[in-house]
Amino acid sequence: MLYPWQESLWQNWQQLLDQRRLHHAVLLVAPLGSGREALAKQLAQTVLCQNGVTEPCGICHSCKLFEAGTHPDFHPLAPEQQGKQIGVDAVRKCNRWAVETSQLGGDRIIMIDYADAMGEAAANALLKTLEEPPSGCQFILLASALDNLLPTINSRCNKWRLAMPNEADTQRWVEKQLMQSIKLETVRLNNSAPIATMQFIEQGQDIRYGKLLEAFAAFLQPPHIGLYDVAGLCSSEGHNSLKWLSYFMVDCLKLQQGAAGHLVHSESLPLVQQAAAVVTPATLISQSRKANALYQQLERHTGLNAELLLVEWLTGFMAQ
Ligand SMILES: [Zn+2]
Repeated sequence: MLYPWQESLWQNWQQLLDQRRLHHAVLLVAPLGSGREALAKQLAQTVLCQNGVTEPCGICHSCKLFEAGTHPDFHPLAPEQQGKQIGVDAVRKCNRWAVETSQLGGDRIIMIDYADAMGEAAANALLKTLEEPPSGCQFILLASALDNLLPTINSRCNKWRLAMPNEADTQRWVEKQLMQSIKLETVRLNNSAPIATMQFIEQGQDIRYGKLLEAFAAFLQPPHIGLYDVAGLCSSEGHNSLKWLSYFMVDCLKLQQGAAGHLVHSESLPLVQQAAAVVTPATLISQSRKANALYQQLERHTGLNAELLLVEWLTGFMAQ
């Protein structure tokens, strides 16, 4: 099933399928929470379908296997854990799939999600297969952005960018799904990706976000009470909360520089205004940098005492 914002890209692919001109390596650039996997799978199922050319019939043997998740010629690959790399061994497995004979006599599909999580060795291992593709082998790569993808991989693929709906459309779509009104800043925090926005609310992150923001804004006011409350909320939320606070600090800076038209926070604007009035730009800049560094540190190394590091970071606001 496709989402409304995927329709126009899908029609482009259908046209290529119809003319049998689909490139052997398709690279779909789309943010997380855009439903990109559904779109990639629709393409995979269509290519594998024994009846349909531009859409899967849903009834043939291949479609049945695909929908059951047991198609022997469909090879999905992703990092073992989100945030981890795709290793060179996994890519070597891909290369073996690429040259195998297909079980059902049709094409083989290799779908690599988080292709931007391939390390250099892994990307290089894939390169040769992409350069000299075995016949009947279709690659579908998915990535959030091109920045982290090796240029050599990038240049051997046919790139497609899935545009996100505008903020108002995303807000309307999520409100319709959840049958409740939602904040515009929730949409902005999730870069207008509809499914990411919906999950943010379904998982109660919007409520926890609101609480954290209130505690943080209160702490920023002298005499800086509630440091341990903020640290506790952050560490129970995980290091994502540092990203949230980064958005907040960036908004404070923008407000100080008079760029009030481009803020993430609309409903929580009063909190941004309060903070921007008391924290100096120099502190905001240095604390933002430290927050990003801390985020990466916490993402890379598990087992650190996050709460202690957060407390240390928060004291940086008191020393100004
Ligand atoms: Zn079919």
